[in-house]
Parts: sequence; C-alpha cells; structure tokens
Amino acid sequence: MRKTIIAGNWKMNCIRSEAKSLVEDLKVKTAGNTDAVDVLVCPPFTSLTLVAELLEGTGIKVGGQNLFWKDKGAYTGQISAPMLVDAGCEYVVIGHSEPRGRFGVAEPDFTPEILAFFGDSDATVNRKLHAALKGGLKPIVCVGETLAERQAGNTDSVISTQTTAALKDITAEQAANLIFAYEPVWAIGTGEVCEAGEADRVCGVVRSTVAALYGPEVAEQARVQYGGSVKPDNAVDLLSRPNIDGALVGGASLKATDFAAIIAAAPELQK
Ligand code: PEP
Repeated sequence: MRKTIIAGNWKMNCIRSEAKSLVEDLKVKTAGNTDAVDVLVCPPFTSLTLVAELLEGTGIKVGGQNLFWKDKGAYTGQISAPMLVDAGCEYVVIGHSEPRGRFGVAEPDFTPEILAFFGDSDATVNRKLHAALKGGLKPIVCVGETLAERQAGNTDSVISTQTTAALKDITAEQAANLIFAYEPVWAIGTGEVCEAGEADRVCGVVRSTVAALYGPEVAEQARVQYGGSVKPDNAVDLLSRPNIDGALVGGASLKATDFAAIIAAAPELQK
C-alpha cells in the first residue's frame, strides 16, 4: 500500500517572519486533515529550524531542498545530511531541475557559463542520494525532461536514464522506500500542468525503470509524485491516477489555502 505524499517546495522564498505566518496559517487550514497523507514543507535553509519548531506535534514534517554529500569539512556554502537532521528535517529533495540548472521559466541572462553554477548532474544526484540515506533522511528524487527533450521524443529515455543513474549502488530495500518526483521541467513554475493521463504515464516510466532494476515488488512499494504547476483545481485529477502517489508543489505551497486544498484532495487515495 502506498501512502499519498504531498510536499511543498518553498524554493528561495520566505524570510523567517514570512515563514512563521505561512506555517501558522497552514496549521489552522490543515488542522486534523493530515493523518491520511504524508505532508511536508521544504523551506529555505535559514527557516528550517524555526519551521520545524513551529510544526512540532502536527502531522506536517520538514525537508531540506538540497544537500551536499559530505558530512562536514572544507566545503564552503554547503549543507550536509547531519546538519539537515539537526535542523529538524526528516526529508530532503534531491536533483530538483533548478539545482540541475534546468529551468521551466526562461532566464534569459543565464548563459551556459552562469548555468554551470547550478551544477547538479546525474552523478551528484546519486552521491546526494547515498548521503541522504546514510544520514537517515527520506529522499525525494526528482527527474524530468525539458521541453526540447519532450519535443524530440526523448521523454521516456531521459526519465529512465536519470532514474537509473540516481539509483547506482542503491539496494533494493533502499529503493523500495524511496520517493521519486516526476517533474517535467517545462511545467515547473510555468502554470502549464502536464495533462493528468500523460503525467500518470511518465510516473509509470519511473516505476517500470525501478522494476527493471529491482523487480516488480520493489517498484510497487516506491512512491512517485508528480510536480509541475499542481494547484487545487487540478490536484484531484492528478492524484487519483494509478501511478501518481502524491505531489511536489512549488508555487501553490506558498499559499496556505491552496496547499491545504491540495492536501485535502489527497486522503484515501492509497494505491
Ligand atoms: C517545484 O518546485 O518542484 C514545482 C513543481 O513548482 P511549481 O508547482 O511552482 O510548478
């Protein structure tokens, strides 16, 4: 049985005062409605401790938006798995398209040299996944194709290549407990949602890639979220599809009313 999981990715939004208001609002709007689903929010690093303290005793958990694969050392500007755990995180997002330097909304001043700053690759995603698991975090591993890759007919191969690379040297037991997020890059922050049938089909590609590597039983246990312009008005359609086990929500997670409505769309959808 796969429990539906709804995650809010706040990205680079919310200074501490804003984080506090958003969480207080979310607590009121979700009260008593988070038992049937796993719910988490991923604030920026600077608000993690505050948000974790404010959410203590509620059903809502906290996740980091990224991590580095070393535990500590001379890695200026990086955050490790033990640091995320220490800040109150239970989850971590790995391989989101933005740290991979793949953006849904055009950033005209991001030249190839500037894009190299973001730097995540299939190899770093794999290292981060190992580090997260070693540190006791629950990883959400993101995969997704760009518009150009989709238009070239390469969606399925991109998804299975990213999924396979992320899983290098991951055991079957670890894979069974993973959460994947299929996030078409062209749907992230653009308002353009992937049609639910197609989102379900590509989430199925993630699952069949896991099945090819570990067998059908492991694939049946792993959870696959959809992410990309999920809103209250499309959540039920997406979440009721057989291969979609939850949502990774960006923009709509910054509005307590919308995020609570997406959570409310999810209960009793275990597959
Ligand atoms: C995301 O940040 O992972 C995301 C899906 O963003 P949005 O919901 O804004 O498209």
